[in-house]
Amino acid sequence: MSSSFRKASEPTEVLGVAYRFTASNAGPMTLQGTNTYVVGREQAYIVDPGPDDDRHLSSLVDWVNTTHRTVSAILLTHGHPDHALGAMHLAQLLHAPIRAADSAPYPLYVATNHATLQPDAVFGVENGLLRVVATPGHTPDSVSYFLDPPGIIFTGDTILGQGSTLVAPPEGDMTAYVASLDVLRRMHPRCIAPGHGPIVNDADGKIREYIEHRQQREAELLGALTEVPSSIPSLVARLYADTPLELQELAAGSVHAGLQKLECEGQVRHEGEVWYPVEFRQ
Ligand SMILES: [Zn+2]
Repeated sequence: MSSSFRKASEPTEVLGVAYRFTASNAGPMTLQGTNTYVVGREQAYIVDPGPDDDRHLSSLVDWVNTTHRTVSAILLTHGHPDHALGAMHLAQLLHAPIRAADSAPYPLYVATNHATLQPDAVFGVENGLLRVVATPGHTPDSVSYFLDPPGIIFTGDTILGQGSTLVAPPEGDMTAYVASLDVLRRMHPRCIAPGHGPIVNDADGKIREYIEHRQQREAELLGALTEVPSSIPSLVARLYADTPLELQELAAGSVHAGLQKLECEGQVRHEGEVWYPVEFRQ
């Protein structure tokens, strides 16, 4: 017997209560593609609809319908287009409202059914609570969602399944980002469901790795400036010599964010383009 049913893409299950779909927008910044999560077995929430891609959104809707779920709201981790652009379309398909921390920089998402997420908002899912956790740094509006039990943290771009997150001005703020990593560390989640890349089962280890990576980058920056005061392009040339040229612009943003953090802490200063350690004597 042949079947004319379209083969729906099957999601990856996360601790029996969340289901990951990956959009087909793979790339250097999106890894294998944006992860969209359906959270909950009957009354469900969707975390990050992803890009406005018909195939991705219709396979999500098909799966939600065939598994008899009702979607209570579409939640955004932040407003970047690879996470949020499909929100309005999906909201129409599912007749569900959109919730985001602060849509001010992204007027596109201010739909009639959009509401600002309160920083302490909590949603009931199965026998657990899905709690909003402000984790600014990658962008000012970045939030994570913590489902406990069983202890899943949905981190958007704050922590990825592989590699490190881009933190670069004007949106990125390294001081806020490092503080957000510390907030996540103290929550001791069981696993991380990132916006890109695989599910992370060693959550404590991954958060520690992220914190140590930033500490190491900061020490390298201070070390380089102590040797010789430098501009951002010359710091990038020295510290990111092995980085492909097309990614060096991103590296410059990351260096800039690191310098701004050190400046806030009174460790470095700059005159024009050139950055110095505060203690530097010529
Ligand atoms: Zn992002």
